[in-house]
Amino acid sequence: MSISSKSIASRPVIALCIGLALGMIFGFLFPFLVSSRSEQVVSHEELRAFSMVEEAMRAASMNKTEDPEASYVTLPGIQKYDGPRLAASMPIETKEAWISWMKKNRNDDPLFLEQRWEWAQELVLSSELKRPEDVRAFLLTPREHFTRPQNKGLEYANTWLPIGYGATITDPDVVSMMTTTLNLYPGEKVLEIGTGSGYQSAILSYLTKDVYTIEIIKPLFVETDALYRQWEATFPSYTVINRKLGDGYYGWEEFAPFDKIIITCSIDHIPPPLIRQLTPGGIMVLPLGPPGRQYIMEVKKAVDENGTVTLSRRDVYNGLSVRFIPFRDEGGKSYSTSAPYVMPPP
Ligand code: SAH
Repeated sequence: MSISSKSIASRPVIALCIGLALGMIFGFLFPFLVSSRSEQVVSHEELRAFSMVEEAMRAASMNKTEDPEASYVTLPGIQKYDGPRLAASMPIETKEAWISWMKKNRNDDPLFLEQRWEWAQELVLSSELKRPEDVRAFLLTPREHFTRPQNKGLEYANTWLPIGYGATITDPDVVSMMTTTLNLYPGEKVLEIGTGSGYQSAILSYLTKDVYTIEIIKPLFVETDALYRQWEATFPSYTVINRKLGDGYYGWEEFAPFDKIIITCSIDHIPPPLIRQLTPGGIMVLPLGPPGRQYIMEVKKAVDENGTVTLSRRDVYNGLSVRFIPFRDEGGKSYSTSAPYVMPPP
């Protein structure tokens, strides 16, 4: 009894000791039991080896995302949504008929419809928008999606606007003039150099089902790519816009030749790879001239029976100059070699 009473008295102490001992054993073993990869079981050498592998993997994955061909190409164009057919079906005889059709068939912010209509009429009056197809494409494209929030209120102003990264969304009158000059027909293949905000290619997607566009600034490419994805369910014509991150100076060989090419950054010569990638009889439109002053040129390519290439040029603004941001290489250096144009004092 005494033993038992003693043992009863000391039971909690023994239990405590056993508990502590077990706790210590488990506490010590726990990391080894739950994870054979926890830091306690690897030596410093092994750790170094792990981190070297991790570093190599990180570098490999970075290289992968840096590779424009691998990760920065979006080719949804296979779906061939018929933007030109939609544009042709839209009534544009009166503002009222157009607005009521837009409200019924599209998901645009109704606040902008009136503004867009008036603005398109002005572009027609100034004869920058000449073909009815182009008017329709402009009426269908919500410029307000491609400008930036800090430029609220200027969506339909006749001015270029900053879109970040030193790039701009081009003035509506210049976009109109260049689009009209391209003379794009459904079924033709068009390449744009300088995706920027994505506005120009969105317009092109109502003129043909085969649009290609290249942007050199990675974050801008990513932003615009995301914008097209965000809206493509609502505006399915964006699914014909094939886009890639890269240097547009070399065109897009894989999909060449192109019936039409539009360059939306300035350069003082016509890039030879783009001349090669233009179909005989094709048209290229570009801002040609030294940094600071360019002229919008329509370049037509003709090839004779001996294969001799002839380029004919026309200044579409008859001597009026424009200013585009430079056509640059991947290091940020301008492709133009001429001295910048400096405005003479007044
Ligand atoms: N078409 C655009 C205008 C963008 S401004 C729009 O509708 O908003 C000109 C664009 O050309 C800039 O985004 C600039 O980054 C891009 N650019 C300049 N050099 C380029 C190159 N070598 N290849 C592709 N894009 C280039």
